[in-house]
Amino acid sequence: MKLYGQNDMVRVGCHDCMGCSQCCRGMGDTVLLDAYDVYRLTGRLGCGFETLLESCVELHVEEGLLLPNLRMEEDSGCCVFLKEGRCVIHEDRPGLCRAFPLGRSYEDGKLGYFLLEDCPRENKTKVKVEKWIGIPQAEAYQDFLVSWHYLVKDIKACTARLCAEDSSQERLKECSLLFLRIFFLRGYHEEEQDFFTQYSARLKEFRRLL
Ligand code: SF4
Ligand code: SF4
Repeated sequence: MKLYGQNDMVRVGCHDCMGCSQCCRGMGDTVLLDAYDVYRLTGRLGCGFETLLESCVELHVEEGLLLPNLRMEEDSGCCVFLKEGRCVIHEDRPGLCRAFPLGRSYEDGKLGYFLLEDCPRENKTKVKVEKWIGIPQAEAYQDFLVSWHYLVKDIKACTARLCAEDSSQERLKECSLLFLRIFFLRGYHEEEQDFFTQYSARLKEFRRLL
């Protein structure tokens, strides 16, 4: 599998999707949200994480850990943000949507991107990966994604172990709630520090409390 870095050119330009919204339909609970996604969404919608949970976000369990994902409409199976075939939060769409049709691969502490085959658009144009992702602080975002990936991996290893022990159910609940509280429920305040600085502080706090 060929992996691309931020500075590589890759054939992903799908001509503004031109009415196609295939990757916004029938995704179930797979559009996972990380802390940066929730920071962008709450900023855009001017609300807190609890309000997202009442409208566009739901929680699901993976290996005992509660993780947020974008909600799909029950009847149509479309993302709640897909209106008349267009994404109404395009500038602040989650990272997985930004990258598509690129997937992410983490190996030896590094993030690489690979081309998915799910986008049917033909004659795609070449675009630099960094431009395609479109986050202004590209390096800081890249570092965050790697950190987040390994954080979630570590917590899942912990919650999966607790899941298997009847006597550890209370600890399992505490662990999941601590994760939600520190990274999602507590708002990020841009006027104090940028997101990435706040995330680093929370990561230290989480590891200490865990
Ligand atoms: S499947 Fe491809 S062309 Fe269709 S909406 Fe997704 S990225 Fe755009
Ligand atoms: S957030 Fe936007 S791009 Fe992502 S699945 Fe929903 S409508 Fe599509």
